[in-house]
Amino acid sequence: MRIRLDRTICDGFGQCAKHAPEYFSLDDWGYASLVGNGEIPEKDRDKLMRALLDCPVHAIIEMGARTDQTRDTPAQDARS
Ligand code: SF4
Repeated sequence: MRIRLDRTICDGFGQCAKHAPEYFSLDDWGYASLVGNGEIPEKDRDKLMRALLDCPVHAIIEMGARTDQTRDTPAQDARS
């Protein structure tokens, strides 16, 4: 899986670093930075999902299949 951290909405709760400290570092004020390039090996998927789901402001975003699939699917036209 691949993730992205939107630092503009991170609010410094620190949940991500608690669940997956090897992928998130916190600055002196508790705001998170991503460690590495966002590529998460399958063995660490569960802890990353916990961090993602526990982030109160949804600053951790999973990139990948589901998003691409939605983008590739043409929207239904409700007017027809
Ligand atoms: S859990 Fe979310 S809000 Fe808290 S430090 Fe991590 S990214 Fe920021």
